[in-house]
Amino acid sequence: MRELNLRNISIIPFSFAVIGGVGFSSPEEQSKVTINTEYGTVEATISEIAGRNILFIPRHAGANGHVPPHMINYRAIIMAIKQLGIMRIISINSVGTMHNHCVGTVVIPYDFIDFTRLRPCTFFEDKTVHVDMSEPYCPQLRSLIISILKEKQIETAEVIYACTEGPRFETKAEIKMLKNFADVVGMTGVPEVVLAKEMQLCYASMCIVTNIASGIDNSKPTASEVLDILTFKKDCIFDILHSIATRMPIRRSCLCNSAIDNGIL
Ligand SMILES: [Zn+2]
Repeated sequence: MRELNLRNISIIPFSFAVIGGVGFSSPEEQSKVTINTEYGTVEATISEIAGRNILFIPRHAGANGHVPPHMINYRAIIMAIKQLGIMRIISINSVGTMHNHCVGTVVIPYDFIDFTRLRPCTFFEDKTVHVDMSEPYCPQLRSLIISILKEKQIETAEVIYACTEGPRFETKAEIKMLKNFADVVGMTGVPEVVLAKEMQLCYASMCIVTNIASGIDNSKPTASEVLDILTFKKDCIFDILHSIATRMPIRRSCLCNSAIDNGIL
């Protein structure tokens, strides 16, 4: 693996960034990079897929090993991507289903509900900016991913994502409430999507259903079943990423790059 510094990578034309979840690792052919931001340091790798440069950031990677979802430095990750001039992010998250999705299904959020409590949730702390959240996930990226999944005949659905604080799993009563308003539940989707929108980046998420949520069909989720499913789906996810790299449009046709234009007080 090669080591690069920021002076080198700042001139690389990237196609998009991938923020990977639990059990996610970059392709084998890669260069390791460290990106310094005002919010902290981010370890990443660069891989070439389908002739395009892709930045991979494992969101749980930390100096002392695995970083739990409520302790991830989401602002540093998004700022690192922004600093490199990358305009698009594909996020990979694991979720529990509160409805009828089969375990292993790749679902695509079109909206979210935020039940996090303790995380820094904005870049704007010295001025008021009400970022537009009417369409949190980039419609151009979402439709590209959905069309690829359909062509590959991979089971999928469009969903509302509920984000909880974690790291514990949800109670049965919490799931009973949440399933009235959302389809899947996870711990890493927010504030990542919000921070990306504040930076006016395109962001879409591919969520892998790793378990049935607590109390649904008498299930009790476990960390090991989550990891097993993610390992099982790894090749599938890379195949999808390869197709995304091949077909990523050059120009953005969405409104993500004006998300804060009408929100600054
Ligand atoms: Zn967009």
